Amino acid sequence: MRRAILILGLCGSATVLVAGAMKADGISDRAKKVHFSSIVVDTHDDTTQRLVDGKFDIGRRDTNGSIDIPRMKEGNLSAIFFSIWKSSKITGHDAVKRALDQIDSVREQIRKHPDALVLATTAAAVRDARKQGKIAALMGVEGGHMIASDLGVLRSYAALGVRYMTLTHSGNCEWADSSTAKAGHNGLSDFGKDVVREMNRLGVIVDISHVSDKTFYDVLETSEAPVFASHSSCRAICDAPRNMTDQMIKDLAAKGGVIQINYHVGFLSQEFRDAEKAKPELEKEIQAEVAKRCGDNESCQLIEGDNVVREYVKAGKLPRVDWTKIIEHIDHAVKLAGADHVGLGSDFDGAMMPFGMEDASKLPRITEALLQRGYSESDVRKILGENTLRVMTEVDRVSREMNAAVSKGERVLSSVRTKSERAGK
Ligand SMILES: [Zn+2]
Repeated sequence: MRRAILILGLCGSATVLVAGAMKADGISDRAKKVHFSSIVVDTHDDTTQRLVDGKFDIGRRDTNGSIDIPRMKEGNLSAIFFSIWKSSKITGHDAVKRALDQIDSVREQIRKHPDALVLATTAAAVRDARKQGKIAALMGVEGGHMIASDLGVLRSYAALGVRYMTLTHSGNCEWADSSTAKAGHNGLSDFGKDVVREMNRLGVIVDISHVSDKTFYDVLETSEAPVFASHSSCRAICDAPRNMTDQMIKDLAAKGGVIQINYHVGFLSQEFRDAEKAKPELEKEIQAEVAKRCGDNESCQLIEGDNVVREYVKAGKLPRVDWTKIIEHIDHAVKLAGADHVGLGSDFDGAMMPFGMEDASKLPRITEALLQRGYSESDVRKILGENTLRVMTEVDRVSREMNAAVSKGERVLSSVRTKSERAGK
């Protein structure tokens, strides 16, 4: 069903076929050369929910969802951050247990597919994976509620390979405000600032997707390392509170950070967002249909949510959003902050994808479109992955320096004081 819609999507790009070296798939030889010789990094994928489910084998090409090894290879997705996520309504020990289950499920998939996947925690390891012809698997915790206000838990996640943490999800956590909840901490609390400092010391990237604007600015003030938005788009194009304003994008870049553009149609397209708002009954209908298909199976809900929205678009009940909207957001952010500060954070397997970007195999389209817009090959490589690798390297450098200063006694970090952190202060 989804594939049938995809064919319609391809028809829309018929005009590009007239360009000289264009192939039947709409991707020129030049774009293929650039794309397949680049390291392509995606900083946010919700595929982990499918892994925990136990029935999904990432090694086999699936007709549903967006991510599996065959389609990652087809689209040259070289490094993927698996999101470790649970709703912010789940807190305390329960949230920690769910996070550990997900970390285990990612690590188990890597163990089961040693020829295709390798765990990576550094930029060098991502490059090594590439040399070995493998996909680098990385992890990011989505939501500070999952550390249960305990820096020891954060350190344990880091030891298990977690490389970034999004400070909140859609609700506030115990120490930081989300962009989609009523402010409760005026941004980051004092303990939240300790969390950021400890993440800096551990070399865990601070992810500001989902957080409130005030939390974002508190993070910029507190963090010693560059930070990134693992899956956010531009608010100037689509007015979603969890997208970034032009000023935020500039300020993130001034600190060396990267905005990784999210492909979710409700964050890409104002038209889609307005249509959703104008017909709140549709959301209820969609939710009811998803519940009918999935019950309380969350991984099924994420995949079927995408499927049902596609059916509504096909029936003319919601506006169609094409993949080229992703390029508009990339281009907007590049014009504001430069090509050194933009990347890709799809939200695959956790959101509604635009037509023509149904899965990882479609990624070469992004390279083709950027080259057609006149981007240099080197800028395209930066956007595809090199910018993320730079942030990872920089975050590691700051971590090494902080650890050296702490061990020499030149610095005292409040985050290293065990008693107060156990008390959740
Ligand atoms: Zn998210």
